[in-house]
Amino acid sequence: MTDFRFQSPLGARVLVAGRERDYFSGTGYLGLQNHPRVLRAAVEALERYGLSTATSRGGYGEHLLYDQLESELRAFFGTTGALYFSTGYLGAAVLAQGLKARIERIFIDDWAHFSVWDGARAAGKPVVGFRHLDPGHLAEQLRAELRPGERPLVLSDGVFPISGEVAPLAELLQVVAPYNGWVGLDDAHAVGAIGPNGRGTPDYWNSPAGQWVASGTLSKALGGYGGILTGTAELLAELERNTRVTVAASPPPLPVAAASACALSIARTQPELRQQLWRNVARARAGLRALGWPLEDSPVPIICLRALPGLDLARLKDGLFERDICIAHVRNYSSTPPGGALRIAIFASHTPEQIDRLVFELGRLLA
Ligand code: PMP
Repeated sequence: MTDFRFQSPLGARVLVAGRERDYFSGTGYLGLQNHPRVLRAAVEALERYGLSTATSRGGYGEHLLYDQLESELRAFFGTTGALYFSTGYLGAAVLAQGLKARIERIFIDDWAHFSVWDGARAAGKPVVGFRHLDPGHLAEQLRAELRPGERPLVLSDGVFPISGEVAPLAELLQVVAPYNGWVGLDDAHAVGAIGPNGRGTPDYWNSPAGQWVASGTLSKALGGYGGILTGTAELLAELERNTRVTVAASPPPLPVAAASACALSIARTQPELRQQLWRNVARARAGLRALGWPLEDSPVPIICLRALPGLDLARLKDGLFERDICIAHVRNYSSTPPGGALRIAIFASHTPEQIDRLVFELGRLLA
């Protein structure tokens, strides 16, 4: 069996299994995880403040670096409130627990991320699924399940990690509005990557402020680490009061907070990084579409090549690896279409030549 351990930093070009290869997997969409300023911020914080506070923020572990990170979050998302916590995986838990006084039942898109299903249970409310990306079925489920006066919380990924689809936020909000409900998004794959300001799914749809809230992670496009929630200061204060996560779980280490703050500031002040990403995404989508996959025009840097009749996805993935190109063949991660899929991740740091070679080699394997 091939040893897939990396022997280099992870970016557009990697050293893996003893050879240099083009890397189209993972989630470092803006390539900030290896940016020299981000690395320097981590080293300086490590030397100055040490590794960690050795306690949770609620346990006398507040630190000026966490304040700085949250101030960068408010600037990036244009909000008055922000919260930084251990990991993106806990985002749905913080969100569902945090909103527990405002809702009675939770409804989840069937393809939502594992962390959304796990996190929803933290609120201690009944949980029901609805058909993937189907606001009509959500409306039916609300009619069937809600008792008079009950308010729903609808949870979905903003961008789905394998299928690469974007949740229809406006339609979901329209469906919950008559019940005075809320929509919560896990925007892990969207923050930094989509929307004119890189603020994720609500920014992409140009959604005005309303009864929605989005969690995210700094571990993907933004190249750092840690879970995040942003919104008005009043709402964030309520979420923080109601969740146990921030009181009882240690936040990411201090150098990570410093590096993440630096990455956020780069992403905010250098919109050309996002534009480069979207140019690369458009180039890859056009090339792969020409090979026969029906791909929509979308700025999402996750390209999902679904199973087609007679196509051996494992052979395609292995064939590309032999030609020094890494893509993922996914079978059972959340949001994987039936029959599995090839997942191609596009980065701002890919060169046009790398993208063209991916398309060319895939075309040769298909011929
Ligand atoms: N939500 C989604 C949709 C994800 O794909 C992931 C990461 N794989 C997470 C949450 C968890 O984020 P983190 O890795 O930062 O904990």
